[in-house]
Amino acid sequence: MKLTPKLPTDLAPLLALGAHPDDIEFGCGGVVAEQAVTGRRIHLVICSQGESATYGDAPRRVAEAKEAARILGATIEFAHLGGDAHFQVTPESIIAMASILRRVKPSVVLAPSLVENQHPDHPRLGRIVMDAARLARFGGVAELQAQAPHAIEQLFYYSITTEAEPRDISPIFIDISAENVMDLWKKTMEAHASQTAARRYVELQITRARLNGLRAGLEYAAALFPADPLVLDSLSQISKSTRQF
Ligand SMILES: [Zn+2]
Repeated sequence: MKLTPKLPTDLAPLLALGAHPDDIEFGCGGVVAEQAVTGRRIHLVICSQGESATYGDAPRRVAEAKEAARILGATIEFAHLGGDAHFQVTPESIIAMASILRRVKPSVVLAPSLVENQHPDHPRLGRIVMDAARLARFGGVAELQAQAPHAIEQLFYYSITTEAEPRDISPIFIDISAENVMDLWKKTMEAHASQTAARRYVELQITRARLNGLRAGLEYAAALFPADPLVLDSLSQISKSTRQF
């Protein structure tokens, strides 16, 4: 069988979800930028307005997230899961998220990791997305009858901080070394000026990407953590591992 890779523009959208306006850019912005550069459609869902934050009020933070999406060329929407610092894993939250999945019809979904040692909204959102991915493909959920079932292909977790990296999942590393990818990622992080003025978030994330790059034999790499085992069409698709370091 000959494998014919699809053009990025033919792929179903990449869906990235954040609990707060800056989570995506700081947590998985490198890989989102990498996909944006290939021309893939990207949709961002921000599940609060960041209204409980120490720095920046909700209108400013919403504007910053919209600016980051504009820089990426991504579409963006704001969802409500109870408000910043009030996320709960409830059937209602999971069904609301499943409805988003059925509407956007992504193949790959990025969500915060389930590790508890972080802002409580982050692992709760990860859990809501994990459960929603299951309900989105079930035919009989009464509240979802208006939309056709949709099965995503892969859910990946990302970590916004080092402490939130899952210890029980081997990451996959994605090469984000290209200059245009790194430039784009930095611009999207810097769009969150209310946060970057307060702490050195950009330097922290670039340093994490550099450390992952060294582990992977690359300049810069983004780590994603598969929620389920990856399936390949052929072993020939495997290139390299971090074992060479
Ligand atoms: Zn957050």
